[in-house]
Amino acid sequence: MTTHITRDACVARDERDPLRPLRKRFDLPPGVIYLDGNSLGARPKAALARAQDVVAREWGHDLIKSWNTAGWFDMPKRLGNRLAPLIGARDGEVVVTDTTSLNLFKALAAALHLQAGGPGAGRRTIVTERSNFPTDIYMAEGLAQWLQQGYRVRLVDSVEEIPAAVDADCAVLMLTHVNYRTGYQHDMASLTRHAHASGALAVWDLAHSAGAVPLDLHAAEADFAVGCTYKYLNGGPGAPAFIWVPQRHQAAFAHPLTGWWSHAKPFAMSHGFAACEGIGRALCGTQPVVSLALVECGLEVFEATTMAAIREKSLALTDLFIELVEATCAGHPLGLVTPREHARRGSQASFTHPHGYAVMQALIARGVIGDYREPEIMRFGFTPLYTSFADVWDAVAILKDILDRGAFDAALERSAVT
Ligand SMILES: *Cc1c(COP(=O)(O)O)cnc(C)c1O
Repeated sequence: MTTHITRDACVARDERDPLRPLRKRFDLPPGVIYLDGNSLGARPKAALARAQDVVAREWGHDLIKSWNTAGWFDMPKRLGNRLAPLIGARDGEVVVTDTTSLNLFKALAAALHLQAGGPGAGRRTIVTERSNFPTDIYMAEGLAQWLQQGYRVRLVDSVEEIPAAVDADCAVLMLTHVNYRTGYQHDMASLTRHAHASGALAVWDLAHSAGAVPLDLHAAEADFAVGCTYKYLNGGPGAPAFIWVPQRHQAAFAHPLTGWWSHAKPFAMSHGFAACEGIGRALCGTQPVVSLALVECGLEVFEATTMAAIREKSLALTDLFIELVEATCAGHPLGLVTPREHARRGSQASFTHPHGYAVMQALIARGVIGDYREPEIMRFGFTPLYTSFADVWDAVAILKDILDRGAFDAALERSAVT
């Protein structure tokens, strides 16, 4: 089967695209169609000069003075305030720090602590999905076991099972808003409402949502949230993650990682821990300053547009990709696992293929970079800041060519990172 959509029509669409000028703010190698910004965002051009400045001037010349003079010490909070509008948070509610895994541990520990000190005492279950990103489940199970008070993680196998699983024993409903494999997007407001009605707290992981879909944590009345900066926020490889603690929970926010950065007077070097006021409670220890500084270059780009504009183009890109794949690759064993319904879709499109890994490696060899997740899933992320409609057309043309010619090695061994 073929399609009536031409490459020229895609080029014309790019010319009308209000986000088109932002592509120039990223450095992508020539000949590459990058559809993996959901896993590692592309490099904002500004990041190179920023890294140079942090290393050469702030560190090299100003040395330790830079903790004060270059604002290193305040950076987790300053960047948190800059990120806040993207997720519907307020000033003083977000810090950029640590990893998503660690921040989730802190948020879960704080949520269990809140429950233990109130009417939720006695509740022992953390409910999440079996299809959640494994580290989220590992961290929850690790915490539950270490507490040795009968806490346990309950895994559900479908979205439909969630409401019933949030029962009288459920302390926390912990969900990832957009599923990393399928791109399924939960209804955050309604699930949070359900959790609260059942006496549970709702902790959200925004790893595949922040910078990808519009978010309003306050409108949803979420309790805690965490997320990545190296995916859609383009913060750089291994860039620190973020954690959101709304003002209403800050006074009671407590977790076991009581490092000196969350102390009321870190440089008093006193004996005994005394937590500071506010969002600083979510910090632990010293941060990787060079990496943290680069997060700002990614956030700056978002200030030139709105999440509404990003969402509109994101849906147009994923719609186009799905339509072109289904029309031009119809004879091949591809299965769409991403929801067609806009409200349930993140900013990616995933297709299964019995030789998904090998097909993805063939795509990458031809400059179309997506990735592969078990089982059989080829994942394509769409990042409206730097992906064009012509990119989508070209990527599908290459996919069709590879499939039509069977130009992939089905026996290929997996690399360490897929
Ligand atoms: C990417 C991702 C993570 C990554 O966690 P790190 O601690 O930064 O390695 C965690 N959870 C989800 C849902 C993710 O998508």
